Amino acid sequence: MTTESRRFEAEVAQVLHLVTHSLYSHKEIFLRELVSNASDALDKLRFAAIAAPALLDGDAELRIEIEVDRDARTLTIRDNGIGMTCDEVVENIGTIARSGTRRFLEALSADQRTGTSLIGQFGVGFYSAFIVADRVRLLTRRAGEPAAAGVEWSSDGTAEYTIGPAERPARGTEVVLHLKEGEDEFLEDWTLRGLVSKYSDHIGFPIRMRKPLDGKPGEEWETVNHASALWTRPKTELKDEDYKAFYQSLSHDMGEPLAWTHNRIEGSQSYTLLLYVPGAMPMDALFAGRDERHGLKLYVRRVFIMDAAQELLPPWLRFVRGVVDSDDLPLNVSREILQENRLVAQIRSATIKRVLDLLEKLASDEADKYARFWRAFGNVLKEGIAEDWSNRERLLKLARFASTAGEGATQSVSLDDYIARMKPGQDEIYYLTADSHAAAAGSPQLEALRARGIEVLLLSDRIDEWMTAHVHEYAGKRLRNVAKGEIDFGKLGEAPGRPATDPDAARPLVERLKSLLDGQVADVRVSQRLTDSPACLVLGEGQMALHLTRLLKQAGHEVPETRPTLEVNPAHPLLARLAAETDEARARDLARVVHDQAVLAEGGQLEDPSGFVRRVNALIAPAA
Ligand code: ADP
Ligand code: MG
Repeated sequence: MTTESRRFEAEVAQVLHLVTHSLYSHKEIFLRELVSNASDALDKLRFAAIAAPALLDGDAELRIEIEVDRDARTLTIRDNGIGMTCDEVVENIGTIARSGTRRFLEALSADQRTGTSLIGQFGVGFYSAFIVADRVRLLTRRAGEPAAAGVEWSSDGTAEYTIGPAERPARGTEVVLHLKEGEDEFLEDWTLRGLVSKYSDHIGFPIRMRKPLDGKPGEEWETVNHASALWTRPKTELKDEDYKAFYQSLSHDMGEPLAWTHNRIEGSQSYTLLLYVPGAMPMDALFAGRDERHGLKLYVRRVFIMDAAQELLPPWLRFVRGVVDSDDLPLNVSREILQENRLVAQIRSATIKRVLDLLEKLASDEADKYARFWRAFGNVLKEGIAEDWSNRERLLKLARFASTAGEGATQSVSLDDYIARMKPGQDEIYYLTADSHAAAAGSPQLEALRARGIEVLLLSDRIDEWMTAHVHEYAGKRLRNVAKGEIDFGKLGEAPGRPATDPDAARPLVERLKSLLDGQVADVRVSQRLTDSPACLVLGEGQMALHLTRLLKQAGHEVPETRPTLEVNPAHPLLARLAAETDEARARDLARVVHDQAVLAEGGQLEDPSGFVRRVNALIAPAA
């Protein structure tokens, strides 16, 4: 092997360009990222040493060192962890075809100001070195390899890097930052100590710096962080600040967590849980699909086993961040073992329970925070309502909806609020789904209920239609979509100001409409839902909502054609006119206008929009 120059992959070069040219706020996070990489490398070595204890030979005290050379203006972050081979350096640092890279670019082009706070969340943390350095050298040797197998990598963060052999007596990795002009603050002892205690205090390994002597770094080392895993410390000893700082280093999120729960469980198995609800959707979760990179960090007896153990957390809690440290799982636990392990299944249900406890407490004690939580994660939690029947009742209790009695589109009404406001004679919870809040709030389907002062939940998130398909009741009350099936409004009392229609008197009109609209609708009937509008479209109870059908069609799915029923309001002047119309052609036009209006009111699209306009114009301004 000889030293050679290579080009970065295009996407890496793009990330580097952005990092060096547009990230200015929170520059100091580079230190957190490099220390976190060093800590990961120590975790990996400790894990590998379980099977191969010889890897630790001669140097068993795992540690991170931060060192400054004022004359050379360099800052070095060093670890005696797992190290890398030449191929690993190329793969991990030079050519990464990592999925995080592209997402980071997307997120960054969406909002450049937040770039520095994002960088660690997308698995591109190493590049943050180039925020403050115009040259970065990385020297490394894989544990277990001879000194001659060392590697030196170097780059100025533009298009190329060099890589070649190096003699490395000590195992592990050293990252040397040649600081840019104007970044001298990162040569200051107290600045660095401050950053370590702010961002890296709870790294589970000692971080050492030179003990100052006469205002300059001396020969002796001292540990500058707390150096014990936070979750292993007693709750009484920990302050909110400690939990918050640990959250930030765990999640690479600059923001504060909304809430957390920390528990030691002793029983048939023993483990520690530390779980956080973030203040906002973590960026990686926002940009990633539902099945990617979420889960908890898994430790077994303090030894790090894996990141993002998905088996410990259902997809509908993918926003939760945290740590599980088990006393009983085997150290050689793999993803395959996790999937079938009985202990893991128990931990997972305990995790769910703790998070739900935490959310319930937040909902009852801190309404504002809970509202923030629901805005950020409500849609994710709704997946749980659909998927997890064993927790459905608890999740439904936590759910918040917009409603005809609420404030605009804000989702603030709980099912318990709703039930408390139900009218005498009402025994069902009414809701309506639509593809926007405005479409739901303005729907003719609500008229009869509104006239009787009955509240309706207005559901307009994409997931709502799917969720409600799984939910049939809450607290013994049936949930009822007001746009589907026949609803008996009789038991809810008369709508004030509108006499009930006599179905017999309306029968000829209904029959006439059926023949005029032949083939366009499944059926025509007199509506109990309407007070002001002439007509609306109604589905059968099991039928898929029309807006969902449209959505699926647009996405290229094959969906069976649903033909809705047209419900009409015979008291409406348009229908009175239709009943009286003797000219068959004009009657047909009127019938189509009534039908097309119902389609529009539901948010649908007309098959023949220009025909609709022509027919409406003929109604408004009849030809002389
Ligand atoms: P992430 O840490 O999220 O994987 P980074 O960009 O911070 O992303 O690091 C990229 C990869 O480079 C790491 O996954 C690791 O394989 C390797 N790496 C970085 N720093 C070190 C180190 N100090 N020791 C060993 N490997 C490292
Ligand atoms: Mg990293």
